Amino acid sequence: MRFFNKHIKVKKRDIPAGLWTKCKSCSAMVTQSTVVSNLMTCPECGYLYPLPARPRLKTLFAEGEFFEIDPEMRPTDPLKFIDTLPYPKRQVIAEKKARTPEAVITGIGSIDGHAVACAAMDFSYMGGSMGSVVGEKITRLIERALDLRIPLIIISASGGARMQEGALSLMQLAKTSAALARFHEEKLLFISIMTNPTTGGTTASFASLGDVIIAEPGALIGFAGPRVIKQTIQQDLPEGFQKAEFLLAHGMVDRIVDRKDMKVKLAELLELFGTPEFIPDMIPAEHRPAQAQHA
Ligand SMILES: [Zn+2]
Repeated sequence: MRFFNKHIKVKKRDIPAGLWTKCKSCSAMVTQSTVVSNLMTCPECGYLYPLPARPRLKTLFAEGEFFEIDPEMRPTDPLKFIDTLPYPKRQVIAEKKARTPEAVITGIGSIDGHAVACAAMDFSYMGGSMGSVVGEKITRLIERALDLRIPLIIISASGGARMQEGALSLMQLAKTSAALARFHEEKLLFISIMTNPTTGGTTASFASLGDVIIAEPGALIGFAGPRVIKQTIQQDLPEGFQKAEFLLAHGMVDRIVDRKDMKVKLAELLELFGTPEFIPDMIPAEHRPAQAQHA
């Protein structure tokens, strides 16, 4: 009997990890694969989980229509910062988790034939925090869009500044905003997409500077967290404060668009603004696929 029990006992590790997940918003038990195939959306209540940068770009660009630039740029550790772990160690862990060497992917691509310069932030890399490489990659992208005279799209997902880079992280607010000011002077189109969550220095800089600001339904958008604000102003905050719908009603957001409809709505906007067609010459030579390089 003892022998039998030993062999039929279902051990915890026999259930594959991550098969089921409890929704953070409605507490429904849903399979991980359903959430993933639903673009990281809860099938029960529509709660939006952060969608990493690569799958996000796949929802907007067809296969072979997005060309990444500066893919290997990695942060250094100028402050020799150590919290519970040294910053370089955190970078290694974050890169392994996010499968990208920084919290943003940038590139040039085509949305339904319209040329765009596009950046997608990745919350899974250190909470999408805005380190100096994030600022540099976004600034380079803005400058490239300016040279090519094509629209810019930045998809934000961020907890704000990167503690490990101190003031260098904060300088990215000024750097990206200054580049965008030059972009605006040339009357080029910048569409900012705020996803869940877009907070801190990201909201306080480029994410709020769009000519058109789109938010995902229910996205948390703000600078400081509600608790800090409540303590500071000593007042209760209104219902739904810092949610996309509240910001739409108060004029900070122009439109709320679901993940699955984003590509169609962006294509409509680009058509409306009469933006230029995509041509392969727009891809920087060193980032062109082998075939296009020889063409
Ligand atoms: Zn749910």
